[in-house]
Amino acid sequence: MIKKIVLFIFLCFIPLTLSSPHALTEGSQELENTGQDGIIVLNYHKIDNMNISLSVRPEDFDKQLAYLKNNNYHVITPDDLYDNLEKGKELPPNPVLITFDDGYEDNYKNAYPILKKYDFPATIFVISSFVDKYPNYLTWDQCREMKANGISIQSHTVSHRSLTELTNEQIKNEITQSKQKIDKELAQNTMYFAYPTGTYNLYIAQMLKDAGYRAAFTVKYGTAENSSNIFALERIPVFHTENTFNSFYRRLNYIPLFEKLGWIKS
Ligand SMILES: [Zn+2]
Repeated sequence: MIKKIVLFIFLCFIPLTLSSPHALTEGSQELENTGQDGIIVLNYHKIDNMNISLSVRPEDFDKQLAYLKNNNYHVITPDDLYDNLEKGKELPPNPVLITFDDGYEDNYKNAYPILKKYDFPATIFVISSFVDKYPNYLTWDQCREMKANGISIQSHTVSHRSLTELTNEQIKNEITQSKQKIDKELAQNTMYFAYPTGTYNLYIAQMLKDAGYRAAFTVKYGTAENSSNIFALERIPVFHTENTFNSFYRRLNYIPLFEKLGWIKS
């Protein structure tokens, strides 16, 4: 009889341990950086000392990357993310993708040296008609130099208009002409896209696919997971606050908890 009870308990625990490697130790892991099932995609804009929410100070950015380095996070590329979500290719523990929107010149002057210091790859979504045109934005030479050193340059449309407010013809132009321009300037096949202001719909997602892109990022808060739409991937925005590091730390560490409580994904 006792043998039967032991066997019964044993059998009950097999599915639990197989289905969730973190299930038995989950309580303690909420305080650590592990137990994270999805991929964290950090979303920055400017790295400079302007006192606006889109600007993270260079010293804060340095601190944040040091935190990732010292806490067993692994910074991956968009190809790594795609291969994992679409082909099931394994990722290192605690994968993080670092992204920048808009292609500001400070990404080259301030963020790039810090990324190099930590040997982290990153992705910059540029507005193709702004490059080489406006003083505060990147030049193609800067893009080429960064690309040669681990920074992926991808599309954030031609002119940064909210796509859901445009005609089909205009949407198509924003999507295809930005890709063609970046392809030509950087001799590459541009395959990743970030929606300006985060606005999208399934029709636009299909147009991206038809134009040759294979994944797109929104500003929906959350981690990118198998259940995510590959053309509407979630990200975690990092803003300047009074205590930028504290807010960065909280965002990174409480995502699983927030999601469990249903505060993030709707
Ligand atoms: Zn933008």
